[in-house]
Formats: sequence, C-alpha cells, structure tokens
Amino acid sequence: MEGYHSPQVDVPVRLNTNEAPDAPPDGWKQRIRGLIDSVQWQRYPDRRASELCSRIGELHGVAPERVFVANGSNEVLQSILLAYGGAGRSSLVFEPTYALHSHISRVTGTEVVERDREPDFSLDPNAAAAAVTEVEPAVTFLCSPNNPTGMVESLEVIATVSAAGEGLVVVDEAYGQFSTHTVLDPVREDDGLIVSRTFSKTWAMAGARLGYCVAAPEVTEQLWKVVLPYHLDSFKQAAGILALDYVVEMEQRVARLVEERGRLVAALREFPVEVWPSGANFVLFRPTERDGTYVWQQLVDRGVLVRNCASWPRLDGCLRVTIGLPAEDDAFLAALGEILETEPVT
Ligand SMILES: *Cc1c(COP(=O)(O)O)cnc(C)c1O
Repeated sequence: MEGYHSPQVDVPVRLNTNEAPDAPPDGWKQRIRGLIDSVQWQRYPDRRASELCSRIGELHGVAPERVFVANGSNEVLQSILLAYGGAGRSSLVFEPTYALHSHISRVTGTEVVERDREPDFSLDPNAAAAAVTEVEPAVTFLCSPNNPTGMVESLEVIATVSAAGEGLVVVDEAYGQFSTHTVLDPVREDDGLIVSRTFSKTWAMAGARLGYCVAAPEVTEQLWKVVLPYHLDSFKQAAGILALDYVVEMEQRVARLVEERGRLVAALREFPVEVWPSGANFVLFRPTERDGTYVWQQLVDRGVLVRNCASWPRLDGCLRVTIGLPAEDDAFLAALGEILETEPVT
C-alpha cells in the first residue's frame, strides 16, 4: 500500500490543506493556560469523555449517548470501519471524493467499491441508491460539502441513499458549517445515518486533533468498543470543552470565510478557468488554457501553495485553493493572473 500524502512545501502562502487561516480566539488561548494546572496529569482521562460528549450534544440538541469523540474525524471514520467494516464486508464511495474514505477502508481490510459521480460531479440519487442496492455495502460514504469539489449534497440524495440499503451511511460534514444545510436533523430519526464533524477546520484547531460523530446510541456503543482505551487525553478533552464556549466567535469566523469565498470565486471567474460551486472553505478550479501541474508549480515558485488534484480520479488539470486571509487570497489571485497572462516557456 501507499501511505496518504498531502505534499507540504515551505512557502509564505499555504492554501493547500483547508485549515482555518487564523488562530482560535485569544480568550480561549488565555484560558487554556489555566488548564495545565487543573488537569490531573497523574490520572487516566475520563474514558468516555462524558463532559465533552454532553457539551457537543447540547450544541446539536442531541443526547450525549449519540456522540462519539476521537482524535480527529479520521479516527472517527477508522472506528466506524473497525466496528462495521473488515473482512468480507465492503464500503461504497462515489469518486471523486475524500481519499481517506477509501484509504481507511483498505487499512481496516474493508473492500472498497468505487462508483462515479455524474459528469458535473453531482450525485444522482437514483443511481446512488441503485449502487447501494447492488453492492450492499456495510458502510456508504457521502461527503457534504464534498472534498475536493466543494459541492453540497441535497437532503434528498442522503435520504434516498440511506433508504436504499441495510448498511450505515456516513455523511462526512468536515465543512458542514460553511454550507447551507446539514444532515444533523435527519440523524435524529434515521438510525442508519452517521454525521462526522471535526474541530480541524471551522474551529481552527487542526493542531489539536479532535473530531466527533453524531449517530444512533446503538452505533456509538459499538464505536466505544473498538477504540483504544483512554484514546482521548485529558488535556484535549478540556481544550474541546473550552472551545465550545466560543461558538459565536466560530460562527463569525465561518461567516467571514464564506464572504471571502464569494469574493475569491467572483475574482476566479474573471480568469480563463472553470470554477465549481463551493459550499466549503475551498474552491476547485481548472485552468482552461494551461496545464494544471504547470500552474501549480508556477504558483509555488511565486510563494503560493495550493492542492494539485491531478492524482484524483477525473480531476486531471484541477487545483483546489483554500480560502485564506484576504491578503493571502490577494497574493494567490495576483500570482495566478500573472501565470495565466504569460505564455508558458516550453
Ligand atoms: C479535513 C477533512 C477531515 C478532517 O480530518 P481530521 O482528522 O478531523 O483533521 C475529514 N473529512 C474531510 C472530508 C476533510 O476534508
């Protein structure tokens, strides 16, 4: 197997991994210092992270039994596959989508079945449901907004896919708050749905590694069985609880990024590039008159790193740019304009 790689290059403007461009609130940073004294470092952590699960439950209006937390949402996905995937079982993904869904499936010995999205990268509900009926996967992955296209899945698609089979449907909402709607409401009535979320993007805490899912209590019970004992350290639990005191600041940060996304998309449309509609904190685009990898390298040479999507199925020539601070986005747009105006040297 190949490992998962997201190439890093040391440049001034890094718009390649969909992180938040700014740090968490100052108040959070000040209070986190106090945690160093209050954490019982000599003791094992609260194994079920009960207070954190209660607070996340409050945030979404669900009982704490419906919440499972782990070290980033990737560990949530791994736990789901450890519990429900494995030998003799399969997972279903609709490409192009987040590479870790198939990667973690393979790592856990789960057979991966890949199906294509429509030519415009949307998902046809009937085609998706037919795939579920045919494949009978233990786990079907949807991603809304979808990484790397940025496109949002309608509630109709999710309900149709969920009704089509006996297996679980995981809706990866790593970028959920940037979007217009969420599946968190249907999860309350549909025991076959799992919604995963992360503190990495909207909460500006990628360095903390914290994620969770909301699911039926019968499902979270299985996830607690397979995860390692005391997987979530005391300090991280406390840091997550503290972060939830700053919901308003998080929502303001998200609103700023959504506005900035509008500005970036409008500016991109002035260039000879194809732009996909985004409900996330990144935008997928394809230069129409230049090779994608050439443009990527030229951006790096000008100190701007974006994601080259050439290795994704059907995304040859595409690049994905994370919404940054206005000055970072300006640097990106200026560099891109320069590259697309100049004839490539061959
Ligand atoms: C970034 C991302 C995640 C986040 O993973 P963490 O382990 O929580 O950092 C999950 N799913 C998708 C689709 C992502 O793009």
